[in-house]
Amino acid sequence: MSEVVLPQYDYDIIIIGGGPAGYSAGIYAARAALKTLMVEGAATVSQISITDMVENYPGIPEGINGFDLMQLFKKQAQKFGLEVVAQDATAIKKVSDFPVIWEVAAGDKSYRALAIIIATGAMWRSLDIPGEAELTGRGVSYCATCDGPFYRGREVIVVGGGDTAIQEALFLTHFANKVTVVHRRDRLRAAGLLQKRAFAASKIEFIWDSVLEEIKGSEFVTGAKLKNVRTGEKSEIAADGAFIFVGRLPHTEIFKGLVRMDKTGFIVTDENMSTDAPGIFAAGDCRDKPFRQVVTAAGDGANAVYSAELYIADLKGQTY
Ligand code: NAP
Repeated sequence: MSEVVLPQYDYDIIIIGGGPAGYSAGIYAARAALKTLMVEGAATVSQISITDMVENYPGIPEGINGFDLMQLFKKQAQKFGLEVVAQDATAIKKVSDFPVIWEVAAGDKSYRALAIIIATGAMWRSLDIPGEAELTGRGVSYCATCDGPFYRGREVIVVGGGDTAIQEALFLTHFANKVTVVHRRDRLRAAGLLQKRAFAASKIEFIWDSVLEEIKGSEFVTGAKLKNVRTGEKSEIAADGAFIFVGRLPHTEIFKGLVRMDKTGFIVTDENMSTDAPGIFAAGDCRDKPFRQVVTAAGDGANAVYSAELYIADLKGQTY
C-alpha cells in the first residue's frame, strides 16, 4: 500500500484528560512512537489523585497514595516521550473531512490530530452537606471497592437507592457488621435482583424517606444527622463510615453533539473504545460502563491506543 499524503496536523493522537486512562494511553502511544500530546487541565483532575490509599492496583502489594500513583503513571509516559500541556481542553472541532482531522483548543493554542482519546473521567455527585468534604477520606467514601476493607467489623451508612448504592451495600456486608442504607424515597431504584439480595441480607437495614443533613465527627466519622422528608422528624445514627452513591457525573460537556452519550453524558463506545465519531476514542470513567476502577481505566487506555493505532495506520495507508 502506498503512503497517503495527509493535510497538515500536529499529532497522531491527542489524549484529553490525565487520569489513569489518559496516562495509560500516553504510555502505550508514546512507546509505540506515535506523536502524542496529553492535554491535562485542572477541570478534569483525576478522582484517583485525591484518593488516600489505593490497595487494589496490581503490582503494588503495600498500597499507594492515589496522587503518588498518578505521578508514577506520568513519569512512565514522559519517559517514552509523551508531550504534556497543562491546560484544559475547551473545544474540539473537525477541520477536515477526508481524512478527518480534529482540532483541540486548550489555553490560547489549538492542536490538530488524526485521532483523539477522551479520558476526562467522572466525578461522584456529592450531597453538599456539612461534614461531607471535611471528613472525605476519614470515613466519608465514594468507593466501597477501594475503602470497604477498612470497615471490617464496623458499622457503615450507605446513601442512595440505585444500582451502585445497593451493589456496594451488598459488597460492604463482606466487611462491616451492619450496613444501613438511607434512601430519600420509600422504594429503591436498583434492579430487582439487587433489591431481592439486599432485602435478604441480614446485615443490611433500611431507613426510608430520609436524607442525611450532616455527617458528624471531628477526626473520623462518628455518625450522621438524618431527616425524614415526609414527617420532618430528625434523628441521629451512629456509624464509622458513610458511603455516598448518589450518581456520578462525567466530564464530557465539551463533547456533547460530537459523540453519542447516554442520558447522563457518559460516552458510548464499543469494546474497542471506538465512539461513533471517526478517529475519536474514549477510555476510563467518562465511558458508559459498569465498573470504574484504576485498573479498568488503565486497560481502557491501552485498548484505545491499540484501536487508534490501527485507525491511523489505515489513514496513512500503512500496513500495521
Ligand atoms: P443512579 O441510578 O442515578 O441512582 C442514584 C441514587 O441516588 C438514586 O436512588 C437517587 O434517588 C439517589 N440520589 C440522587 N441524588 C440524591 C441526593 N441528593 N440525596 C439523596 N439521594 C440521592 O446512580 P447509580 O446507582 O450510580 O447508577 C448509575 C448508572 O450505572 C445506572 O444506569 C445504573 O443502572 C448503572 N449501574 C449498573 C450496575 C450494574 O451492575 N449493571 C452497577 C452500578 C451502576 P432516587 O431513586 O430517588 O432518584
